[in-house]
Amino acid sequence: MGDRPRIATASLAGCFGCHMSLLDIDERILDLVERVEFDRTPFTDVKILGECDVGIIEGGVANAENVEVLREFRERCKVLVAVGACAIDGGIPAMRNQFGLKECLQESYVDGIGVETPHVPDDPEIPLLLNKVHPIHEVVKIDYFLPGCPPSADAIWTFLDELLTGRPIELPYTQIRYD
Ligand code: SF4
Repeated sequence: MGDRPRIATASLAGCFGCHMSLLDIDERILDLVERVEFDRTPFTDVKILGECDVGIIEGGVANAENVEVLREFRERCKVLVAVGACAIDGGIPAMRNQFGLKECLQESYVDGIGVETPHVPDDPEIPLLLNKVHPIHEVVKIDYFLPGCPPSADAIWTFLDELLTGRPIELPYTQIRYD
């Protein structure tokens, strides 16, 4: 990696909780911004992905746009990291996998409590849902997996610090969680 590695991040079918956990590294964020350059992330609001050293992905793959974004990250990022339970095994969004897609849409937009104008949205601008939510490693090759819902700020910091300095990734036992 060069002197100032470029980092990009994205949230697919996630809740942004993993991104929030990254921000929870508190004042260490000042250290991070001196050591890296941020490319496309929700923090920078950059929309076009450049060539990056590290791509960090939160969330599972639930729709056609998620597939597209994930493939683009794989193409442009030397190292791709699955951060959080949703990216690693589908997490909360994958709870819908035990039902058919049609059943989910029917319950959400037609039969659900509080639905006022029953209608399954069909605007072509809305990304097409996949039949099932997939962990991201089922779509592209992933280099590292950082578990937790979300992984703690300390775990994210340890990981980034070790990765950026080229040390082996060795999270202490106390920072590894599988919630
Ligand atoms: Fe949110 Fe947890 Fe999924 Fe991260 S792993 S996106 S915190 S639900």
